[in-house]
Amino acid sequence: MGSLPWLRHKKRDIPGDLWVRCSGCKQTIFGKDLDDAFKVCPKCGHHFPISSHLRIAYTLDPATWHEYDAGMGAVDALDFIDEKPYAEKLETSASRTGLREAMRYGLGRVDGHQIVFGVLEFRFMGGSMGVVVGEKVARAVELARDLCIPLVLVSASGGARMHEGILSLMQMAKTCAALATLRESGGFYISLCTHPTTGGVTASWAMTADIILAEPEALIGFAGPRVIEGTIKKKLPAGFQTSEFLLEKGQVDMIVSRQEFRTTLSRLLRYLPEQPQGTLASRGHST
Ligand SMILES: [Zn+2]
Repeated sequence: MGSLPWLRHKKRDIPGDLWVRCSGCKQTIFGKDLDDAFKVCPKCGHHFPISSHLRIAYTLDPATWHEYDAGMGAVDALDFIDEKPYAEKLETSASRTGLREAMRYGLGRVDGHQIVFGVLEFRFMGGSMGVVVGEKVARAVELARDLCIPLVLVSASGGARMHEGILSLMQMAKTCAALATLRESGGFYISLCTHPTTGGVTASWAMTADIILAEPEALIGFAGPRVIEGTIKKKLPAGFQTSEFLLEKGQVDMIVSRQEFRTTLSRLLRYLPEQPQGTLASRGHST
């Protein structure tokens, strides 16, 4: 069989991200239009997952990000192996993301307001919380407390990191204990839950903020719907564990689209009374 004429032509080299198919409306979107819209579908409003790098760029004033503890990496204390050794999974995540761990935190500014900003990288083992993620969250909280500046954390997580066993579960208590000291000192904490925020992260620091924001249609919950249905032997209502459902039930304060997050954050930060700010040197913090 002779080859078809169009097959004889050399294929044009089209970059893979020139056109993107939206998983919300199934329509094809021009990649640049998607980039210009903060990775939100211009046709249906579906929020595409984004990296921690983009989250930082979309949120903070340009060139104000100063990351802390970027070199802190996980230790495979249990020599854990499931389908692959844990150490190998860590290496794969590190080469995929260029990061040592799933949590990033540091100092930055939003419309000039200095904050401690932290964000989970979902591409690093599903944003799961092990010892290093918990430690970095606790350090972010303590930095905000000591410098007397607001704390803003963005979550996207599959929950506790089972590869670290009970050591990962204790991060729930540790991060909440740190947040209690922030509260006692009069500190202020805003949490943004993005798709998906689940398991031990939801059950600890993501849902214990002064103000809890969520991106539209994000899945936010502890156990998954199938586990809950199996336990309570009841059918769950439609839209269960979405941002919209949680807003209706009073678990979330506000749903904010990605394009509005920075201006919303700026407005919320303006409401805060001026506090005398500490300095890094006087509080013993260093990068
Ligand atoms: Zn769409």
